[in-house]
Amino acid sequence: MAQVRLQNWKREISYHANSLEVANSADDIVRIVTDRDRYPGPVRVKGSHHSTTRCVVNEGGTVIDMTRMNRILNIDKDARTITMEAGVLHIDAARELEKHGLQFYVNVEIGNMTVGSGACGGTKDASFHSAAEGWEFGQVASYAIGIKAVTATGEMVEVTEGDGELMAVMRSSYGMLGVIYEVTYRVKEIKPMAVEHIRYDVDEFAGKLEDLVAGDRSMMLYMFPFLNRVMVEYRSEGDLPLRSNAWQWRLRNFVWSKLGPIFGKIVTRFVPFRGVRAILLNATNRLTMLIAAWLLKGKSTSPADQIIRYPEIGGFGAYTFSIWAFPRAEYPATIRAYFRFCQDYYDRTGFRCDLLNVGYHIAEDRQSLFSYTRSGPALTLDPVSTGGPGWEDFLAAYNDFSIRHNGAPLFNQTPGITPSQAQAAFGPEIRTFLDYRKRHDPGDRFYTDYFRNLFEAA
Ligand SMILES: Cc1cc2nc3c(=O)[nH]c(=O)nc-3n(C[C@H](O)[C@H](O)[C@H](O)COP(=O)(O)OP(=O)(O)OC[C@H]3O[C@@H](n4cnc5c(N)ncnc54)[C@H](O)[C@@H]3O)c2cc1C
Repeated sequence: MAQVRLQNWKREISYHANSLEVANSADDIVRIVTDRDRYPGPVRVKGSHHSTTRCVVNEGGTVIDMTRMNRILNIDKDARTITMEAGVLHIDAARELEKHGLQFYVNVEIGNMTVGSGACGGTKDASFHSAAEGWEFGQVASYAIGIKAVTATGEMVEVTEGDGELMAVMRSSYGMLGVIYEVTYRVKEIKPMAVEHIRYDVDEFAGKLEDLVAGDRSMMLYMFPFLNRVMVEYRSEGDLPLRSNAWQWRLRNFVWSKLGPIFGKIVTRFVPFRGVRAILLNATNRLTMLIAAWLLKGKSTSPADQIIRYPEIGGFGAYTFSIWAFPRAEYPATIRAYFRFCQDYYDRTGFRCDLLNVGYHIAEDRQSLFSYTRSGPALTLDPVSTGGPGWEDFLAAYNDFSIRHNGAPLFNQTPGITPSQAQAAFGPEIRTFLDYRKRHDPGDRFYTDYFRNLFEAA
């Protein structure tokens, strides 16, 4: 078959696979994995290809499209679990759970993420604090309790929490231990969610961070390095009755996913003067904070409302981002240093992100091997941009900043990391992973150059 050109969502990453195969069942996957002549390796899965790194790239290999394996197989209200084929979208599952009076623990904003990818890769959302369980995890895979996969020998296996370390490895496997075709997540009873936005000067925020955490509310940060401001989106358990489809979230999602990126792109592309661009971006940032603090509050919203269904392919307003997570204890110094870094970088090069920066407070979590909060709670620094000229050089400088500040990356969401940065963040975990990988896939059926380079080149 002819080579097929594939791209990620924003279309900034392209590759040529030998073929793209649509799977309708686990048997289809077994057939593809075991027929090495017809389906050259590596064999990799394509979810929605929303990843921002080359973890999706599979030059010359066989790519399995999971979008037809999109059935929700069972929702068990008593056991509080949902079992799905791996191609189900996160937003579809969240809305179905809502109908059953249930919700995910982690409601990432990206509704297009497939649940198979969520079970085996890096994700982030601000950890929620509930009266019943305290701080919850902020990573989707941490609540995957059963993962069914086709192994390199074509066997169908299920890994569960009873399998100990293997489950933690599976939750970080990015398809390298097998093609995931079914997942079961632990879910919880749905509760109304309160939300509000509060603005701080960055020094005030940094100085109060531990007190703010002690308030037991989830914290997503919107950061404005050129205004020295931070706005926190606080989420907490709200009041009954729950009101789904709240206009507050619809407005927030519209500004965040459409209006902001389109405006940023227009300013970057069509305003020729750096000073004028800066004035426009700063004015928009001020307005965003004002409107959010004034309007975006509610006491009874649905957790599913924060999830966004993006268009299948990124259009004019597509944006991209990166992320590193930093130890919470050091974050007051790290966020101040990051603001200075952004300002200095702009003075030196003229580049600044044309969208805001965000961040998440995420609880300690050892449920997955490459969890970026394995050694304690963290907050992230995520630059967001429409990705014009200068973005890639900025990322290289930001990666260097991050590793010097004890950051940990996500292999599917932190572009441009080097093998030595991967080793610095996850050296022992990479060694453990390689041990499992070699045992489960000695013939490298699922191993791509991206991971080989990150794990073995340093
Ligand atoms: C606009 C935008 C907003 C985003 N917002 C968020 C956010 O709020 N929170 C967040 O955590 N992330 C966010 N992301 C990142 C995104 O959630 C992750 O990159 C996620 O992995 C994408 O899922 P996917 O289904 O598109 O997987 P892909 O990008 O297609 O695949 C990711 C990796 O997982 C492997 N894989 C996928 N499915 C399977 C399977 N069934 N079996 C084995 N391996 C598999 C793939 O081979 C690949 O290596 C965002 C991305 C974009 C573009």
